[in-house]
Amino acid sequence: MLTDRHGLLASLLSPTPSPSDSADIALLRGCEQRLDELESMTPLSGLDLKDLLAEQGVSRRAFLGWASATTALLMLHPWFEPLVARAAEMMNRVPVIWIEGQDCAGNSEAFLHASGPSIDELLFNVISLEYHETLMAAAGFQAEERRQQAAKDNRGKYLLVVEGSIPRGLNGAYATIGPNATPFVDIVTELAASAAAVIAVGACAFDGGLPGANPNPTQAVGVSDVVKGKPLVNIGACPINPVNFNGTLLHYTLTGQLPELDSLLRPKFAFGYRIHDNCERRAHFDAGEYVQQWGDEGARNNFCLYKMGCKGPMAFNNCSIVRYNEGTNWPVGAGHGCIACGSPGFWDRYATERPMAEAKVRAPGLFGGGVESDIDKFGAGLLVAAGAGIAVHAALTATARRRDRHGKRPGPEPAEEA
Ligand code: SF4
Repeated sequence: MLTDRHGLLASLLSPTPSPSDSADIALLRGCEQRLDELESMTPLSGLDLKDLLAEQGVSRRAFLGWASATTALLMLHPWFEPLVARAAEMMNRVPVIWIEGQDCAGNSEAFLHASGPSIDELLFNVISLEYHETLMAAAGFQAEERRQQAAKDNRGKYLLVVEGSIPRGLNGAYATIGPNATPFVDIVTELAASAAAVIAVGACAFDGGLPGANPNPTQAVGVSDVVKGKPLVNIGACPINPVNFNGTLLHYTLTGQLPELDSLLRPKFAFGYRIHDNCERRAHFDAGEYVQQWGDEGARNNFCLYKMGCKGPMAFNNCSIVRYNEGTNWPVGAGHGCIACGSPGFWDRYATERPMAEAKVRAPGLFGGGVESDIDKFGAGLLVAAGAGIAVHAALTATARRRDRHGKRPGPEPAEEA
């Protein structure tokens, strides 16, 4: 065992990778080759990341710290840190066409409205945005021409970013773009056909989002309902975290491929975590300490928000780890329960303020009965382990919990798959 530890320590400290890491080494070599190729290309965007960072007073040290954190975010070996930093500087070589349909532009705004932009937000300026209706100066026929030209010039090479839902009602007439009133659904189909890959950003592009909520008058759908036969990644959430968009883009820049995806086509590096498992209020959940009413003693003590409608036990996203606005805070940290905005159909299934005890959905549970039943069982286990004093407390907590449940609940719906 001791020898193993020494071996592990030696492999971590050694500049020469051990042979057992051959998969990582092969990936490393492939990434180096890809970055060499990108470096030999002329930048498509006039902006250089190094210049921009210097202009914003971001030190090289801070940038390398960011690269280190981003490497961890992407679940890559620390060997990849210098390559991630290099890939960020090469992001102006990957052409991006960004289109918007039925949406509020909240995902674009997530990058743009930073008072002190983080490195992730600055990267948005560096990527080679060949077309973005909200940001470009051109309008009308000029904009239309620009979109067509950008697709032609970068055929087979560009990443198509789609923000907003795609209404299919009235032959797509609910969302038309440009002077010729071209249905958005046609634009998505046409641009996706000559893209290298498609990135759906935000809840609306994921599965229709708010426009697609019941009764869905415009017959709005997400990108995956329209685009077939293309590499596609869904970065659902309302809005997306810039960190997760940049992570996806960086992964593509670094490897030429989309990151590993889950069954809902979401990047695993971002959606492989259950909110509840990484929440700073989790200890209160386990102890049966809940906010019972807005502004009560529990709220003042940052107790768990489950009974106020928090859907963290059902939601998969990395918000509780990376947070928003340079890691400043996130909804649960600010006192509002998670609304599971990265989950499919969240407006209909999760977004209201109802306590989950009265909701139609149940969190996946270890013992098959939903998360509430689990905490009762965890409590029972703790009773044995910790003695009679805790037993009395746990029993009182469980009694209080049962008293708070009203009426008969419908059966569980299938849990979201991570
Ligand atoms: Fe956090 Fe919500 Fe889970 Fe409570 S229910 S621990 S507030 S994620």
